[in-house]
Formats: sequence, structure tokens, C-alpha cells
Amino acid sequence: MIYLGNQYTALEKYKKEATCWLGIKIKGRKTISNPSGHFCAESTCLLCNSNAKKRSRVDQNYRDLFSDQIIHEIVVAKPSRLVEIFSALLSNYIALPGKDADDFKSESKKIFVKSGYTNWFLKERWNYQLAKLINQHTCTYCNRQYIFIYKKSKGTGMVPQFDHWFSKSDFPLLALSFFNLIPSCGICNSIKSQNAMDLGKHLHPYVDTNISSSYRFSYFLKSTTTSNIIFKNNNLINNRSLDTIEALELEKIYEGHSSKELQDLIDLRYKYSDNYLEILLNKTFGELQMTDKEKYRLIFGIELNEENYHKRVLSKFKKDIIDELLNTNSK
Ligand SMILES: [Zn+2]
Ligand SMILES: [Zn+2]
Repeated sequence: MIYLGNQYTALEKYKKEATCWLGIKIKGRKTISNPSGHFCAESTCLLCNSNAKKRSRVDQNYRDLFSDQIIHEIVVAKPSRLVEIFSALLSNYIALPGKDADDFKSESKKIFVKSGYTNWFLKERWNYQLAKLINQHTCTYCNRQYIFIYKKSKGTGMVPQFDHWFSKSDFPLLALSFFNLIPSCGICNSIKSQNAMDLGKHLHPYVDTNISSSYRFSYFLKSTTTSNIIFKNNNLINNRSLDTIEALELEKIYEGHSSKELQDLIDLRYKYSDNYLEILLNKTFGELQMTDKEKYRLIFGIELNEENYHKRVLSKFKKDIIDELLNTNSK
């Protein structure tokens, strides 16, 4: 998993439209007959100055849960605050006579998933816009697949999927929350949708700044020609990194698709009488004054700095394995 940073610019651009869309769908536009409706007062806001209408057939008690402030927060709040808002709104709603958690979920689905995610986010191509603004080149979860952004003038193009860290089936209320939308590949998105995530147990790509240093790739030699990719926890205090790797099923994904890359690196170190890994890195370019960053990029096609891992597939995987192989003295 890769830390996604603050993404201030993306958040700024996204929050205005998402807030107005949700405000209108929940409360309707502000008019003389609907004085409590939503209006952002910006003359340039296309949504508030359009004919957009509130979502029909939604329980009024549900609409009444939302103030402008709460709608704004649902769009921009960090994950821990999102959990608080979810719990507060849910308990307010089920305190009403005849309402239960399923009712809350089904009303949330109408507004946030159907009107919000499907009819606005996807239809208005916010998946393209957001992917472009966030500018990640590989899957946030696996760093194994490039996630392309390519938009044809008409019709569809290629775009990363947006995984909901809190799933939209369990937490439909959070389907449009900026920090709940994680650019990812299709495989990771589908695996993750089957595993419930928990901030206390799992790393979050917008919360945990030290994701890359909290675990490392390693290997286990089964024979001279086969090895298993394994993960090791670098954090002595908790097991969140390994729990996250398990939830994302990264061991299986890497085992299935990257074991050949592992074997190539092990061969460079052990197959020949000379340590070719060492030779490649330290002798190949002779007098050329190359930095380590340049060497790793040219020889192994990877980035060496954490903030650039996302630019090339398998960067952390190969870097960790090479580090381990170079530090091993035995042959
Ligand atoms: Zn507006
Ligand atoms: Zn992935």
C-alpha cells in the first residue's frame, strides 16, 4: 500500500461540486418555496444555478439529519471523523419511532450511492477528473498494476477504479467522501470489497504517513529454484501492516504474479559464482557518476524514493528484496 499524501488540490476541486450535488439531492435547491434548501451563493456554481432537483422518495426524517455543515464534513472529513459522523447520524435516525439500521442504510444508498456515486460521480466522469488530480501511476494497494487515465473524446476510455475503503455496501453514507475514494486496480478493488476494513486494525492510504516503512517484502527459499514471497512487520508496537496485507490478500497476489521477478533477483545474487547483483549496481556504469536512484531506475526499472514508488510497478517489492539480498553474506 502507498501513502497518498494530503492531496489538497484534488480535495479543493472535488469538495465544491460534491457538496453542492449532495446538498441539492438531500435538501433541494434553495428557492422561495424551499427556504431551507441548499445554495452555495457562488455565481459560478453550475449545480446551484441549474434545475437540479432533490432526490425523490427519500424519507423526510432522513433528510432532516443533515445540516450544511454535516454535508460538507461528509465530503471532506478524514476517516476517523467519518466514522463518528456515521455513528451519530445512525443513532439519531434509529432513535426515531419505527426506524432501524436497515432503513438508514437504504435511505443512504438512494442519496449517496445511486444519486451520488452512480448518477453523479461516474456519469459526470469524476472518476477521470479525480484520478487525474490525484495523479497516482500505479495501484495504491498493490503497486503491481499501472492505472491508466485515458479519455476518448466520446465514450469511455481507461481509468483506475475507485475503491471505497469503507465499503459502499456497509457504509453507503461514505460513498462520496473524498478520503474514502482510493484509486486502485480492478483486482484489488474486488478483493477488498469482500473484506471489511477497520481503522484500528488496518492501515489507511490517507491516514498512515509511514505505510512504506511499516512492513517489508522478504522471501523464503524453498529450494534453489523456488522461493516464496513473504511480508515482515517493521512495526514492533502493532500488527496493522500485516493485517492490512492479509485483508488485501497481497501475499497471494504477489505470489501468483511476481514470483518470477523474485527468482530473477535471487538468481542474480546466487546462481553465478560472482555476485551479479553487486556487480550490476556498483560496477556496470564504471566511471559514470550515477546516483543510486538512477542506477535502480535503469537496471531494475524501479523508483527508490518512497514518494515516487507509485510511478513504477513493483518499486517497494524489488527494493526490499534487493536490500535483503545485498545484506546477505552467505552464498
Ligand atoms: Zn453550489
Ligand atoms: Zn492493485
